Amino acid sequence: MGVIMGKIFDSKGRLKIPAREVREEELIVKQVFCPEGHNLITEEHLIDGHPGIELAFRRENGQEGMVVLSPKLGDRRAIFLKGTVEEGEVVKFLCPICERQLPILTTCEHCGEGSIYVLFLDENFSFNNAITFCSKRGCPNSTIRKADRIITALGL
Ligand SMILES: [Zn+2]
Ligand SMILES: [Zn+2]
Repeated sequence: MGVIMGKIFDSKGRLKIPAREVREEELIVKQVFCPEGHNLITEEHLIDGHPGIELAFRRENGQEGMVVLSPKLGDRRAIFLKGTVEEGEVVKFLCPICERQLPILTTCEHCGEGSIYVLFLDENFSFNNAITFCSKRGCPNSTIRKADRIITALGL
């Protein structure tokens, strides 16, 4: 009994609940590709110590810019390298290497204004192994998410 008690309770007698550990590493995207196979992860700009996702963008007024998104799922942090985007503004995202517009999955189900952009996690370019983000700055969907959950939720 004593042995079992020792394992279940900590030294203060509190019940120890073995939490399922979600390792931070699992939430960090290590590579993402445009449809032409360009890896958009940049070692030059780290967010929280992790290489960020570098994207070009174009505003409605034609201004172009560059932004680095956090590679961590759900993390709002971003670094603007060139230009800026106002809170609530919708922009177009392009690959900074081939300058092709990045693929769009659908209109954002949250804000109804932004587009849900897709970046592929491997070079099979499958929407089922991809991340998505909304193109409206400040939308809760503007951080990266796994695409398969959105596809399932929307029945696409
Ligand atoms: Zn490209
Ligand atoms: Zn949105």
